[in-house]
Amino acid sequence: MQTFTRLDPLRSTLDALRADGPLALVPTMGALHEGHLTLVRAAKARAAHVVASIFVNPRQFGANEDLDAYPRQLARDQALLEAEGVSLLWAPEAAAMYPAGYATNISVSGVSDGLCGAARPGHFDGVATVVCKLFNQVQPDLALFGEKDWQQLAVIRRMARDLDLTRPHVGAIVGVPTVREADGLAMSSRNAYLSAEQRSQAATLPRAMKGAIAAMLDGRSVAEATAQLVAALTSGGFSSVDYAEVRDPDSLAAVTEPACQPARLFVAARIGGTRLIDNMAIAPA
Ligand code: AMP
Repeated sequence: MQTFTRLDPLRSTLDALRADGPLALVPTMGALHEGHLTLVRAAKARAAHVVASIFVNPRQFGANEDLDAYPRQLARDQALLEAEGVSLLWAPEAAAMYPAGYATNISVSGVSDGLCGAARPGHFDGVATVVCKLFNQVQPDLALFGEKDWQQLAVIRRMARDLDLTRPHVGAIVGVPTVREADGLAMSSRNAYLSAEQRSQAATLPRAMKGAIAAMLDGRSVAEATAQLVAALTSGGFSSVDYAEVRDPDSLAAVTEPACQPARLFVAARIGGTRLIDNMAIAPA
């Protein structure tokens, strides 16, 4: 597996790989875990070559967020990707991605509003902008993203549709189900921030979400079930809840009653300084 940090050699190597068949892109910010590797395996099953990218994108972090603290472990990540049979790693420096004078922003309205878009202003502009650039740089036939970041997936699909992206086109953007730890916690690079006590408290999140889903399926209102969820998180050790909301899975429009199926529960909550997100379908387990 070759690692590229500059665009010109990346492009000429990609041209050669494309002759073998479909090229799949798995964009990441590194500090890889089993969730990322599951995306790589799903990519391998669909393509002749997998290109992974690692870029901790400054434009998707707010001023008071964890850009500097975000875990960076390139050598370990390279070994993991190589072992999965990834053909090529694209790991640009921030200055290569956003050279002096860089001035373009992509903003996807509607699906970017609310949920993480409200809690992290500008976040999805940063995501859409970098993913559009990655698509143009790599020109993959398909690209894979985790359902753990469901709103992000919706933003990327909307962008691909709206900008007539052909590489990859909207139908070639593949969502992969969330990979979880044994206790149900969604895998995340940010879980590394948790102390041992916080890590065990964090399992309250998926547990309380399942409880709220069961309550809604049992006929409780969205308001009641989400209030019960917030209370469970607070008593389980979470310091605050950014949101706990039920939304339409595609449009992300608010759903007031779970009777309007299909629907999905979205939560972001903080444990100490660490912000965790998760989402689940409102459907019988
Ligand atoms: P990140 O490095 O956090 O930007 O994530 C890179 C990609 O991996 C995104 O498409 C994420 O949605 C996906 N991802 C992160 N965690 C998980 C997980 N637990 N299960 C499935 N996909 C994930």
